[in-house]
Amino acid sequence: MNIEPSIHEFGGSKELPEERHDVMVVGGGICGMQAALDMGDMGFKVLLVEKEPSIGGVMYKLSKTFPTLDCSSCISTPRMASTAHHKNITMLTYSEVKEAIKEGEGNFRVRILEKPRYVDSAACTACSLCEKACPVIVPSEYDGNLSGRKAAFIPFDTALPKVAMIDLDNCIYCGACERACPVGCIDFLQTPKLHTARVRSVILATGFRLFDAKLKPTYHYGEYPNVITSMQMERYLSPTRPTHAIVRPSDGKEPGSIAYVLCVGSRDDTVKNPYCSQVCCMYSIKQAQLLMGALPLADIAIYYIDIRAFGKGFEEFYVQTKAMGVNFVKGKIAKIEQQENGDLTLFYEDIENGGRLSKSSHDLVVLAVGIMPGKDVAGIFKNDELKLDPIGWIKSPDEAGSPMVTSIRGVFAAGTAIGPKDIPDSAVEGSGAAIDAVAYLWTLDRERTGAEKKGGPS
Ligand SMILES: Cc1cc2nc3c(=O)[nH]c(=O)nc-3n(C[C@H](O)[C@H](O)[C@H](O)COP(=O)(O)OP(=O)(O)OC[C@H]3O[C@@H](n4cnc5c(N)ncnc54)[C@H](O)[C@@H]3O)c2cc1C
Ligand code: SF4
Ligand code: SF4
Repeated sequence: MNIEPSIHEFGGSKELPEERHDVMVVGGGICGMQAALDMGDMGFKVLLVEKEPSIGGVMYKLSKTFPTLDCSSCISTPRMASTAHHKNITMLTYSEVKEAIKEGEGNFRVRILEKPRYVDSAACTACSLCEKACPVIVPSEYDGNLSGRKAAFIPFDTALPKVAMIDLDNCIYCGACERACPVGCIDFLQTPKLHTARVRSVILATGFRLFDAKLKPTYHYGEYPNVITSMQMERYLSPTRPTHAIVRPSDGKEPGSIAYVLCVGSRDDTVKNPYCSQVCCMYSIKQAQLLMGALPLADIAIYYIDIRAFGKGFEEFYVQTKAMGVNFVKGKIAKIEQQENGDLTLFYEDIENGGRLSKSSHDLVVLAVGIMPGKDVAGIFKNDELKLDPIGWIKSPDEAGSPMVTSIRGVFAAGTAIGPKDIPDSAVEGSGAAIDAVAYLWTLDRERTGAEKKGGPS
């Protein structure tokens, strides 16, 4: 969502009474939810802060997960519900941590800005009548702009919390939503709320950003309608998909030939990303398998530099996909050109045939975009330095031994906030960071009381 407020911009913001928690988890993706649930289950008081209107992170948007092809939302939705309804977890969504000041070990003072939804969340019943009444349609962020949403909208069906919100940037102030709302909970005068909290530790689970495919101009993403990203293909393949069939955007035709371009924005010095994003090979292979089910007559080609299938069951999944008939072509795509009918010509170096320049034609091209560090969370720590590596991932002073520890004692980081990785590894690191935070709290209590073992939830 598009709001970047600063505390000082909002003279009229409501400041709420200070609260105390054992840990503040920043980011409500799979990693942050796991950390919050583990600490909550152990009896610690958790404050979970998520900047988007709903928790869930990237996972709820995905189709299925490699290599087991489990339904992604079937795994993430119950996890979201457990988090939202946990007695030891307080959730602040659509909220951003603006500053975290360490005032001693086990004592962080944090200020969090909750952005206005222009809807009274406590009163909204998520009946969708405002959404139906609203005449304004804009591209849906949730569906990667493949469908539309209203200016009065509920972010997605399984959003948590499930409440409506108004997008003032696109609102024409016609009042239709206000007239339609049966409980009168639309409030255009809402202001941001400033929360102050004291937390004893912090877990950063702020996730990743997708590489912006427009930074590879020879692929013409955003210009050629039939060049889409892998995240858009996830939406096409998801059970909550924007269209009932997979269609190419330019003319609604069912694609008969689909090409994947791997390593878009990864292992590429021209865009200053030398690293491997770790998940793109596998999610492309997964999407190819799902496409073979959805479009049994389609030809699918994957253009790759190397296939990195390093995890449990990954190599077998790759071998199975080849056996199913997906065409793996070792070749780096130099450029894509659009033909008059919307088809796309790929120019590439055909490495297995002597490196000669070749070209091929496809109906639809999917760019397997890489994973980038999220926006800098380091800036929230006002009197301590949160160290990042040269790429921008949060850096541990002991990467090999304690990867979830950061340069600030009492602050831990996990999941894709510290580097590219898949869902299981992100969840495991969420649990790891929770244990690190518990050990920190227990150590502090031992140091304070001199007792052999004290501590535990406050
Ligand atoms: C196209 C695609 C397909 C994929 N398919 C698979 C797959 O099949 N299997 C698999 O294992 N992995 C897959 N992945 C990888 C998977 O998405 C990640 O491993 C997983 O989402 C990482 O979880 P996370 O919690 O670390 O980060 P995220 O899911 O990014 O969650 C981070 C959360 O933190 C929030 N946040 C960020 N900054 C702040 C802030 N300052 N304050 C408050 N909140 C903040 C974000 O809004 C977000 O909700 C895929 C990735 C992509 C791009
Ligand atoms: S006032 Fe704005 S949000 Fe409400 S119905 Fe009109 S355009 Fe939509
Ligand atoms: S009409 Fe009112 S109660 Fe219903 S979803 Fe919209 S804001 Fe919520």
